[in-house]
Amino acid sequence: MKDYIVRGTDKERNFRFFGANTKNMISIACEKHQTTPVVSAALGRTMTGAAMMARMLKRDTDRVSVIIKGDGPIGGIVVEADGTGNVKGYPYNPSVDIPNKPNGKLDVSGAIGNAVMTVMKDLGLKEPYTGQVPMLSGEIAEDFTLYFADSEQTNSVVILGVLIDVDYSIKQAGGIIIQVLPNVADEAITELENKLSSFTSITKHLDENKSIEEIVSTLLEDIEIMEKTEVAFKCDCSKYRMERGLISIGKAELQEIADEEESVELVCHFCNQKYDFSKNEIENILSTL
Ligand SMILES: [Zn+2]
Repeated sequence: MKDYIVRGTDKERNFRFFGANTKNMISIACEKHQTTPVVSAALGRTMTGAAMMARMLKRDTDRVSVIIKGDGPIGGIVVEADGTGNVKGYPYNPSVDIPNKPNGKLDVSGAIGNAVMTVMKDLGLKEPYTGQVPMLSGEIAEDFTLYFADSEQTNSVVILGVLIDVDYSIKQAGGIIIQVLPNVADEAITELENKLSSFTSITKHLDENKSIEEIVSTLLEDIEIMEKTEVAFKCDCSKYRMERGLISIGKAELQEIADEEESVELVCHFCNQKYDFSKNEIENILSTL
């Protein structure tokens, strides 16, 4: 089954929601980056959150970036998602190995440390929209909640989960965002809070073969799905883009490389794809500058 995101509301229009099954997308990202379990969880949660945020964008060409920078051993995480369901991301340090928390859970907040979450939205305007919040929790879902409240004045519930198998592969991954609509009834909020207090975990439900729609239905009454779209790991790097990157280092520096090296290898941060440029190719680039 392909990964997908659903968007909808409850029948009474108290809330809107986004639900995502992202197992394949997170599996590919973690394979490409050779992540340890705690990094898989951190990267997977961030990618799933960003993927759902991208469904809130108006146009296919709009993009959202979520950038986490912290003083923990991961260092940071960068994720980009666009309006067509393409998501890419990478951790600064994929090989963090720290002890689990006393309750046996992966210590994502410990791996991230004191951090700041920055959300940038490129909406095709002159300047991208930027919002930033300190990560009070470091567990990522709560930090998205804080971001929505602080920067977008929207009360939200954000649930993100990545379940790692014994062989460190991704067993389940998904997320739900529920946002309060303007005319929400007080009783509806109380009811949601009650249901959330007995909600176990999204990956537990997914592992019981429940669909994301069924899981959302355990939290909201009579949901209506308005849209179901595919989501996948996809990097848009290319040799041409890498060439632009080479040019940006400056003519003098590039000349120095051409003089000293037989070839250079550039690696895309997002997908680890390698791009080789021979001396000849670099000289050709130089001749156009
Ligand atoms: Zn790439």
